[in-house]
Amino acid sequence: MRLSRYFLPVLKETPGEAQIVSHQLMLRAGLIRQTAAGIYAWLPLGLRVLKKIEGIVRAEQDRAGAVEVLMPTIQSAELWKTSGRYDAYGPEMLRITDRHDREMLFSPTAEELFTTIFAGGVRSYRDLPRILYQIQWKFRDEIRPRFGVMRGREFLMKDAYSFDIDLASARHSYNRMFIAYLRTFAAMGLHVIPMRADTGPIGGDLSHEFHVVAATGESGVFYHEKWEQPRSLEVDADDAAALQAYVDGLNADYAATDEKRDPALEAATGASLKESRGIEVGQIFYFGTKYSAAMGLSVQGPDGSAIVPHMGSYGIGVSRLMGAIIEASHDDAGIIWPDAVAPYRVVLINLRADDAVCTAAADALYAKLEAGGVEVLYDDRDERGGAKFATADLIGVPWQVVVGPKGVAAGTVEVKRRGAGAKEEMGVEAVVARVIS
Ligand code: ATP
Ligand code: MG
Repeated sequence: MRLSRYFLPVLKETPGEAQIVSHQLMLRAGLIRQTAAGIYAWLPLGLRVLKKIEGIVRAEQDRAGAVEVLMPTIQSAELWKTSGRYDAYGPEMLRITDRHDREMLFSPTAEELFTTIFAGGVRSYRDLPRILYQIQWKFRDEIRPRFGVMRGREFLMKDAYSFDIDLASARHSYNRMFIAYLRTFAAMGLHVIPMRADTGPIGGDLSHEFHVVAATGESGVFYHEKWEQPRSLEVDADDAAALQAYVDGLNADYAATDEKRDPALEAATGASLKESRGIEVGQIFYFGTKYSAAMGLSVQGPDGSAIVPHMGSYGIGVSRLMGAIIEASHDDAGIIWPDAVAPYRVVLINLRADDAVCTAAADALYAKLEAGGVEVLYDDRDERGGAKFATADLIGVPWQVVVGPKGVAAGTVEVKRRGAGAKEEMGVEAVVARVIS
């Protein structure tokens, strides 16, 4: 993509309304713009990162055996009256009346709808277990939307729902999602800790929240110092017993949110317990038959009797993750994207767009990189070098490749890894190999 044809409205000044660094950088780097309180437009660069995050979430859900669907954002109030949550949900639910005076709502989560749709398509215990998921916009009329996409009102969530014949099978589904979550966040270059958590209004008795430790996090968290190191994620998720042992092993190293803080456990782990702030990027729940019973989901068991499936639900804050990644990876000059979620792999800077020889060399390298399948943002604008370097640092693309007149005469370009400092001179041929490696 040529920057001269792109839409990248970067800001020189830090916007006054943004209190935390990720929000400031998302506005400055032209990723998002606020259109109403807690509601954002996704600009081209921000949308590319959102799609990358979404792609990693999808790949790990698919790998865990979950099946993707897409539910509507607007739902009928009837469904929520059936479960009793229409009144219970309170002012966070955005309620809408259509032209026929029918009560509708913008989905804040989707247990009722998934359970109902699933109930309409299964008959027998042989149709279980299943995990269905979607990646869809949610709306919660948060009392205090803040910190940009971290606490928006409209936000992108991956929500999954598991259906199992009994508790043992439901635990296996829960554990599958548990490991899938750890793999998802690791694949994004994020260090995340699974914390014992309260279930809240969703109900049920087993839950974990996944937190990125950050001073700007909204939750209080406690964790064993062992959690400061990355963990091995080598386990066969199809082997229920091995997976349970693996999850039990992780849970043995205490980690919990504020609400779930257990003084007895804290005393037992003693001085090795760390206290910090966390950004909740995901949460998983097992809640038994709460929604299956309420929504009339039952299947025929092996002996012909009716069985009410056990369920769990599993959320990931896809748009919140972008803020969390930036909180975890930036410097004074801007964002430092982990490779897996970077909007482009290379920013190619033509230092002298007014020089025909330099421009011809930069154009040729651009064509070469594109032909090699590299995602390149080509700064071909007629601007000063300083402004181009500042933009490249701000938007945080992993590799910066600079074509200047001196180098062109010598047959070299300058290559720099964002965040790593040192520049390297290399021949044009070597550049493609370097940025692909
Ligand atoms: P929080 O405690 O932060 O309000 P929650 O526990 O109400 O979140 P869940 O119902 O567990 O949220 O939703 C699943 C995930 O969706 C959360 O782990 C979080 O990452 C994300 N999420 C929830 N609310 C928001 C929001 N207002 N803006 C952005 N992401 C959100
Ligand atoms: Mg939660």
